[in-house]
Amino acid sequence: MDKNLSYGDDYKFIPATSIGSGIGVEVLPDLYCHTIQIVNIIMVGKPGNNEFVLVDTGMPFSADEIISVVNNRFGENSQPKAIILTHGHFDHVGAIIDLVERWKVPVYAHELELPFLTGKKSYPEPDPTVEGGMVAKMSPMFPNEPINLGTHVEKLPSDGSVPHMPDFRWIHTPGHAPGHVSFFREVDRALIAGDAFITVKQDALYKVITQDQEINGPPRYLTTDWHAAWESVRRLEELKPTVAITGHGVPMSDELLTTSLERLVREFDQIAIPDYGKYVDKRTH
Ligand SMILES: [Zn+2]
Ligand SMILES: [Zn+2]
Repeated sequence: MDKNLSYGDDYKFIPATSIGSGIGVEVLPDLYCHTIQIVNIIMVGKPGNNEFVLVDTGMPFSADEIISVVNNRFGENSQPKAIILTHGHFDHVGAIIDLVERWKVPVYAHELELPFLTGKKSYPEPDPTVEGGMVAKMSPMFPNEPINLGTHVEKLPSDGSVPHMPDFRWIHTPGHAPGHVSFFREVDRALIAGDAFITVKQDALYKVITQDQEINGPPRYLTTDWHAAWESVRRLEELKPTVAITGHGVPMSDELLTTSLERLVREFDQIAIPDYGKYVDKRTH
């Protein structure tokens, strides 16, 4: 066992859930989305062979659930070729130390996320004063200390390719986190958006619990650069995705996705950027 691997000092169980918790959806034959409490993990690859990867690793203390979901879909004792991260926030790396110790697979993330994944730098404190509902108010309990994956984490290839996801390329979509990335596949215009935009109003506990489908910008309490976040949504909209799996909320597709994304780009200052909060720059309004 690698003694250097560790969660952050403020690692803890977060008591938040939704009606989607524990439920999985096969979005496409090789894209499976499963909800851990309030956040999605994605398995990329077709069942029946061992060529698959895991994108993001859920909430703290969810390793057993993730392992059983992987085994159910790919067979007993199966394991991904790699873990790929959209970004390193606590709800996307919640089980990662357990999974890396068990599977001994490499982790890939954008190089700007590496300080948060190698014990060097904390994320900014979540902002409970931001305009928003109960989840925003709860956010001070969310872990923001860096985890340490040591040498198990590597930067994504600079040519835009994604290891073990041959038809996908990664796209830098900062704003919510400095090294936030999304994954796009040209052939069927499938998008894994992470938290660049999401399909639920994540700041409001009621909306999180019911998972009402509603396009939104990134979760507010952790987003520190709203100007970059707007640019990132613009970039993703230009790709004209036909289906999107986001970090939070139910996957969205076709006409609803197209019109929702167009509206989000157009009205980002109204829909996404909070009216007040410590990371809100008045100039982005
Ligand atoms: Zn996030
Ligand atoms: Zn998230």
